[in-house]
Amino acid sequence: MKTLVRNGRVALDGKLQALDVLVEGERIAAVGSLGAASADRVVDAQGCYVLPGFIDFHTHVDDQIGPYYLADTYESATRVGLENGITTLCTFVTQEPGDTLLRGLERARAKAEGRTHADVLWHLTPTTFSPGDLATLRVLQAGGYCTLKLYTTYKAAGIFASYDLIEQLFQSLGDLGGCFLVHCEDDELIAAVDARGLDLSKAFTHTLLRPEAAEVVAIQRVVDLALKHRASLHVVHVSTLAGAQYLQANRAKGDLSFETCPQYLFLDESWLARPDGHRWLCSPPLRGNRAPFLELMRQGAADVLATDHCPFCAAHKDAWDGTDLRQVPNGMPGLGSLPHTAWKLWEGDPDRAALGLATQLSLNPARRAGVGDRKGALRPGLDADLVVLDPNGPARPLRSSASDAFESFPGFTSTLAFREVLLRGESRVREGQLTQPQTPGGRLLQPSPASLALS
Ligand SMILES: [Zn+2]
Repeated sequence: MKTLVRNGRVALDGKLQALDVLVEGERIAAVGSLGAASADRVVDAQGCYVLPGFIDFHTHVDDQIGPYYLADTYESATRVGLENGITTLCTFVTQEPGDTLLRGLERARAKAEGRTHADVLWHLTPTTFSPGDLATLRVLQAGGYCTLKLYTTYKAAGIFASYDLIEQLFQSLGDLGGCFLVHCEDDELIAAVDARGLDLSKAFTHTLLRPEAAEVVAIQRVVDLALKHRASLHVVHVSTLAGAQYLQANRAKGDLSFETCPQYLFLDESWLARPDGHRWLCSPPLRGNRAPFLELMRQGAADVLATDHCPFCAAHKDAWDGTDLRQVPNGMPGLGSLPHTAWKLWEGDPDRAALGLATQLSLNPARRAGVGDRKGALRPGLDADLVVLDPNGPARPLRSSASDAFESFPGFTSTLAFREVLLRGESRVREGQLTQPQTPGGRLLQPSPASLALS
């Protein structure tokens, strides 16, 4: 099957160019002026941008978090993702207490296999580090599980890693070429907040329980350790100006990157002051004074824009009795909104926005996830994950999740229309609708652990 995408403005090598894209089988065969090329199907991209398929680098789906099971399955998450141009979903496997990471990985793969509309890859969150565990991690990393997630907080959940442990892991696993993803909030600073004098019945108090300084200090500590040991570091969901500035100032000294999320750009702490403000509880919290942060991100400071999609059921979010906001599950959906909210960052400059999406939603996350040789650009030989994006469609409300979760961006609209989305060469979305909703075509991008040499 050959598909020719003609007449669009193609994002290639950091520029927009009037070119055609020829897709053959699952791969991009050629990019150029290909008017004479024969094809089984021609897609007219007149008036549209032609971009590489998007990657949401940071999502939580189909998993138990604390007492609650998340609202999105692999099927529902990748459905709303693919309808919005997200051809690869990155999500997490967390080692459960008393269990092995490998068994968790097998369970996640079983849940996803045959049910995903987009391609899927996993970041791994190990929580025990015996010599045997480290040996397993080395095999998994060599086999394509290139990203390890660590948390500088959440002791009660059993996923906390001290700075000493992080340093040891940078030393013992940093040579593998993989990347450490770190949630940076300093646990000591959070523990030092005296909750007794605070009104825990107000969602807004969350901003006091998890102060900006906690994120900034943890970023400084972890960045310094990564530079010292030459480890590759990606800091997830940066929400503070000072944290982002520290990363930016040190970027050239090592292999550092970071992401921010649309909620830290377009929502602020005033949302927590609403009567239903608990629905916007997430960690790190929504912050105040977004203008300078937004301006820095508009300049392209963040390598990756990702959602930290973490959709709790509406009933679970609303289940608390109003006494202690710490009972409310932390997280909110964003997956289906990602291209729209990212676009908004460069509102008024559509060419800049299109290039921003190509870089921060595709090229950079593909490289960081270890699939830069397969995805992330419209280059011959790479997977033909491709989005034909019309910036001038009818305005419609954002829809972050197709599941029963509260919308994170109520009242926000977008005119982006997804005329066509190809997943590995196959037309999977036309005019925003899945072409084959009953037969998901996503693939698991990493090998089964059973196929790796694990004893
Ligand atoms: Zn997360």
